[in-house]
Amino acid sequence: MLLFTPGPTPVPESVRLAMATPTLHHRTPEFEEIFKETREQLFKLFTTDEIIMLASTGTGAMESAVTNLCHDTLLSINSGKFGERFGKIALAHGLKNVEIKHEWDTPATVEEVVDAVKANPSVDALAIQISESAGGLRHPVEEIAKAVKEINSDIMIIADGITAVGVERIDVTHIDCLIAGSQKALMLPPGLAILGLSNKAVERVGAGEGYYFNLASEIKKQRQNTTAYTAATTLIIGLRAVLQEIEVNGGIEKLFSDTSSRAKATRFALEALGLHSYPQTPARSMTTIDDENAKEIRDLLKTDFGVNIAGGQDHLKGKIFRINQMGLIEPYEMVAVVTAVELALAKLGRRDFDGTASRVFHEEYFKLVLNKEDK
Ligand SMILES: *Cc1c(COP(=O)(O)O)cnc(C)c1O
Repeated sequence: MLLFTPGPTPVPESVRLAMATPTLHHRTPEFEEIFKETREQLFKLFTTDEIIMLASTGTGAMESAVTNLCHDTLLSINSGKFGERFGKIALAHGLKNVEIKHEWDTPATVEEVVDAVKANPSVDALAIQISESAGGLRHPVEEIAKAVKEINSDIMIIADGITAVGVERIDVTHIDCLIAGSQKALMLPPGLAILGLSNKAVERVGAGEGYYFNLASEIKKQRQNTTAYTAATTLIIGLRAVLQEIEVNGGIEKLFSDTSSRAKATRFALEALGLHSYPQTPARSMTTIDDENAKEIRDLLKTDFGVNIAGGQDHLKGKIFRINQMGLIEPYEMVAVVTAVELALAKLGRRDFDGTASRVFHEEYFKLVLNKEDK
């Protein structure tokens, strides 16, 4: 069965093998060396001033970012389940929340965020997804962050990059906190979250908030290549292997470029079948289609064609399907996926099978890749 859900994503074999080595004690020079190397690689990936690894899923990192960086009012963007979560976290901690809410296919605009910041002077942090996984949407985070900083540079910009870090290069010039999680673009099992912080964010953290998720304790320890509590040793060993695997496969820029080409070619291939791309601004992390037969297509992919893709949640349950683009994916694997969708449409009597999906995918993907190589 091909796993093509936008998290969890497949774990490469070299990474699984690295994690099969005997367990290390975390307070040893051997592990500290691994921690240090991993941290150094993460600085290159995140391009932020500070890096913190937490033994937690992505939501724990979202919570720690909110509690440590927001002390009054959180402005959050809700164009889906994960954006909604930021607001819930703020309220659960007794913070105020101003929310900009949209349908799950609609990105936030710079103008409306600027208006909300101006109308709510108590806002001291903005939380937004780079790629909102609920509808496969890309928010214009870099532009929004820049505009907010122009109004008030003390407002902390928290960017959830759980389905964006490792997918595309993110300009962190105006971002104070960039969040990633192990089981999505980082090709690992769940349980490790990473925060990239700006110097300004480190300053704002000060003495920190809370206990386990107190970022001040972690900043202090992790600068010494250790953690405040037991490190997620096996996952960190896995992360080091993932970052090595990316290097062996041509490096991070190649991964970004291949992912972009693959995501575009997949969308073109499915549109050539008459399908409709759901988000107004598609993220590169996944290809999202809305369709009246979304459930049937997804079921047929699993039962008849050996491909596991994701559906929608809440009001989009049965209305969309999502195909993962995160990780080291070979183009021929995606050909199998788009072909399976075409076969499912034929089985549903929607259109005759004629190999369109595979043809369009190949044409578009190799056109994009070859054009890039020309440059
Ligand atoms: C998966 C996901 C999360 C939540 O992460 P967990 O690891 O499930 O806690 C948050 N934000 C985005 C954009 C995600 O895709």
